[in-house]
Amino acid sequence: MPELPEVETTVRGLARYLEGERLTRVVVNRPDLRRPFPADLMQAMTGAVVTGLDRRAKYGLLHTDRGRTLIFHLGMSGRWRIDPERPDRHDHLVLHTDDHIFALNDARRFGSVDLVDRAILDAWPPFAAMGPEPLGELLTPGHLHAATRGRKTAIKGVLLDQRIVAGLGNIYVCEALFRSGISPRRQAGKVSRAAFARLVPAIRDVLHQSIADGGSTLRDYARPDGQLGYFATRFDVYGREGEPCHRCEGTIRRIVQGGRSSWFCPQCQK
Ligand code: ZN
Repeated sequence: MPELPEVETTVRGLARYLEGERLTRVVVNRPDLRRPFPADLMQAMTGAVVTGLDRRAKYGLLHTDRGRTLIFHLGMSGRWRIDPERPDRHDHLVLHTDDHIFALNDARRFGSVDLVDRAILDAWPPFAAMGPEPLGELLTPGHLHAATRGRKTAIKGVLLDQRIVAGLGNIYVCEALFRSGISPRRQAGKVSRAAFARLVPAIRDVLHQSIADGGSTLRDYARPDGQLGYFATRFDVYGREGEPCHRCEGTIRRIVQGGRSSWFCPQCQK
């Protein structure tokens, strides 16, 4: 599943070719992904100039000069192909500019495309409910400390809650908890302010590292220019059950929390 770093990489890749360009042709090849394409997608986007691109959590945003923003989510298997050599049957939305072709390819169709007025983006329901961006200034140790007081659930689950932090996936929560020495099992309400002061920069570091690597782990993920994404070779704990800890003599363990695996070092993380 494309995670935040893959979406960031995708947005940066698309921005290089799309920013300031007019969409000369918009082709919708099927009625829906996870939900229907907006009925006026072709009409609204054909002829529009892309004024800029952004990311919010795991959504990519294409702003246009018409005051409307195309919002895409890559779901489980989505990716953008730039100037594909040949069409693919999973190219469900295709944008043309004078010089390039951009195909949103999504074999499993768990992705989505929406059109929202830019002026009310923050009120769009998926965004309205979201906590701060993990790479933004609003994610602070104080925010996490305040948001977790009195919570008896494990810190791992709280960090995956989009209302607390937006767009942080399992991989990055596991890695950030390892780097900051916090056990995924620790009760959220008992994590100290000092521990959060280690956790916040750890979150940013693991995300920045993955973005620098060009997106992380997915077998079926491809960068927008068609190159394959990177494999998870640099992770300290994620997917490393039974392997030696990079920091101590211990062994990485895997447990299941809320139906999802957590990897951690019981010696380094308390
Ligand atoms: Zn260790």
